Amino acid sequence: MKYWQPKFETMEHNELRELQLKRLKKTAAAVYDNVPFYREKFDSLGITPDDIKSVDDIKKLPTTRKTDLRDNYPFGLFAVPKKDIVRIHASSGTSGKPTVVGYTANDINTWADMMARNFTMVGLDANDTFQNAVNYGLFTGGMGFHYGIERLGAMAVPSGTGNTVRQIEMMEDFGVTAIHCTPSYGLYLAETVREMGIVDKLSLRVGCFGAEPWSSSTRKELESAFNIKAYDSYGLSEMMGPGIGFECQEQDGLHIWSDHYIVEILDENGEEVAEGEKGEIVLTSLTKEALPVIRYRTGDIARRLKSECACGRTTDRISRILGRADDMLIVRGINVFPSQIENVIVRIEKITDQFEIYLDRNKKKLDEITVKVELDEDAFTDDIQDLAKVRKVVEGELKSVLNIRANVELVEKGTIPRSTGKAKRVFDRREAI
Ligand code: ADP
Ligand code: ZN
Repeated sequence: MKYWQPKFETMEHNELRELQLKRLKKTAAAVYDNVPFYREKFDSLGITPDDIKSVDDIKKLPTTRKTDLRDNYPFGLFAVPKKDIVRIHASSGTSGKPTVVGYTANDINTWADMMARNFTMVGLDANDTFQNAVNYGLFTGGMGFHYGIERLGAMAVPSGTGNTVRQIEMMEDFGVTAIHCTPSYGLYLAETVREMGIVDKLSLRVGCFGAEPWSSSTRKELESAFNIKAYDSYGLSEMMGPGIGFECQEQDGLHIWSDHYIVEILDENGEEVAEGEKGEIVLTSLTKEALPVIRYRTGDIARRLKSECACGRTTDRISRILGRADDMLIVRGINVFPSQIENVIVRIEKITDQFEIYLDRNKKKLDEITVKVELDEDAFTDDIQDLAKVRKVVEGELKSVLNIRANVELVEKGTIPRSTGKAKRVFDRREAI
């Protein structure tokens, strides 16, 4: 089967906009009537849900930020009584105190179908065996994927994270055909598969990776290490969790499920960017009941793509995430995204795929960036000249991508801690001085 819910996935443009309008009005009314935070925001702008006459009228509505969720922690933005909430999750807390999100039974149902759409889109079905190697706690990635796998009818292997050798044994023993984990854990699994030398014994076809940015070099690395196609899964707890945007088999940007979300890509002035341009992803939920969110400023940067796609789905489409605004490092006035560094490190030979970034301020009060990388075992010689050569290659490649000089520190393989979830790569020590 090609589509999970063909009616919504391939809906004709005008019909889709009509559906969005109907659902936007309903969502606006729900928050206006039930969430004091939004009622006040609407009132101070002098608008009511009745002012929404077209999808473009979304521009009149107030935006929501992560701080608004924090200020109303834990349940202040919920739009239904507590008896209707059947589950909560929380954000990972990458940029501060985790925010709490809630779900009604319908929300869980919608989410499961959305995930089943994603899996169908990348060619999976009830015959597949799907290992979900992410944390099953409050993090949305665990249960979010799990319910989708069951909805599809595939066999779920809820392996969670950790015990990496055992994870790979499970893949072999259970004939796992699809896996989900963070890209950084994927690289660690890949390294371990290589060390165990058993990739030929695995039946993997598909990998879904998400929850943090990952570069095209990492995609190549994961695809070759496991002999799979690697797909990008985008999501955020405020909008449900993973799977609100997903790649199709074209591997050319993310489909955002437009019957459930309106996506705006806004420039610094809050104006919609033109096709191909980049800006901040701003999302409005259209079907969420427990926690409807209006114009959520994700802080994630992407480009708007044209909506037509060879797969036949008519949803809005955006590029993969170029970075998140709070990840952006400013070094000597130049913007640096950790994913740019990842893209370089992963493709260079003689070093592993692991790295850490240190930011310091030197005696002249100038920023210094140091990238710590690990030598592969076979590159580890006593010959100082060999090491100098490796360092020079890495420094040269980084310079050409970042446009600033980065120091490179070579360390032994295994020195940098492997991550099983979202990796912490950046250590900013500038404030300390
Ligand atoms: P937190 O914001 O605390 O990390 P979440 O667990 O809700 O909490 O994570 C959502 C965020 O993770 C997104 O806003 C985005 O920055 C990042 N993210 C999720 N999926 C991807 C992806 N496929 N590519 C890049 N970044 C992603
Ligand atoms: Zn497509």
